[in-house]
Amino acid sequence: MEPIHNYLTIDVEDYFQVSAFEDIIASRDWESMEQRVVANTENLLALLAGRGIKATFFVVGWVAERNPALVRNIREQGHDLGCHSYWHRKVYDLQPEEFRADTLRARAVLEEAAGVPVRGYRAPSYSITAKSFWAIEILKELGFLYDSSIFPIHHDTYGVPGAPRFAYRHDNGLLEYPLSTFRLMGRNIPVSGGGYFRLFPYWFSRYALRAINQKERRPFIFYLHPWEIDPGQPRMRQARAFSRFRHYNNLQKTAARLDRLLGDFLFRPLEAGEACENGLS
Ligand SMILES: [Zn+2]
Repeated sequence: MEPIHNYLTIDVEDYFQVSAFEDIIASRDWESMEQRVVANTENLLALLAGRGIKATFFVVGWVAERNPALVRNIREQGHDLGCHSYWHRKVYDLQPEEFRADTLRARAVLEEAAGVPVRGYRAPSYSITAKSFWAIEILKELGFLYDSSIFPIHHDTYGVPGAPRFAYRHDNGLLEYPLSTFRLMGRNIPVSGGGYFRLFPYWFSRYALRAINQKERRPFIFYLHPWEIDPGQPRMRQARAFSRFRHYNNLQKTAARLDRLLGDFLFRPLEAGEACENGLS
């Protein structure tokens, strides 16, 4: 049997831009925070280069505008570039016209920095849900070829519980790469990265991801953020206990865990996928 290439995606944002802290840090204060995203992203790039793996980097426009050399570096190392909004606001908190303007601004900044077209989108905190499906129409109108924002789970702030678990096309033709889940007792368990990868022991993540490859014969879509390999980041002591747990749990273990994952599975960027090849042809 052909080995399965999975998809590796990195959401490039800084530790103070996450949704868990949006109620305690206003975006006008971002500039005054200690900036750590460049160093953390460069550490991730080095980890990937060490394994010869290419990924898709969804970059926040605010970060790209201040760090065009980082965007160029990602591109020059052979990775895909995607858009992760400009202000990292949840899509369902925006009006459609605000979403359109934010997306256009972010994409323009990214394309200016990298000199290549940006064709993929990932919503902040997977915030394309039943409340904000209008965003799929806008992404198509703006010329995006694919989206990777839908998480087919029940969750307190995101998720489309009945959505397909593997790559599919929306009615308007836009390609969707949903975040991967493991089927357990009739439920979709999120196992594809981020806080879940930090929470579960590595053996469980590997078991669940292997089941997707070996039992279902499908690729999984994995995601991580540069701040997740940075145990030295400043602590947000005023955040709620649950938000702090989600954000800080096992940061010190993640780089080594990711390196194991990169050795245990095959990966490629989203635009190298067979589904996307059709979309790009
Ligand atoms: Zn994000």
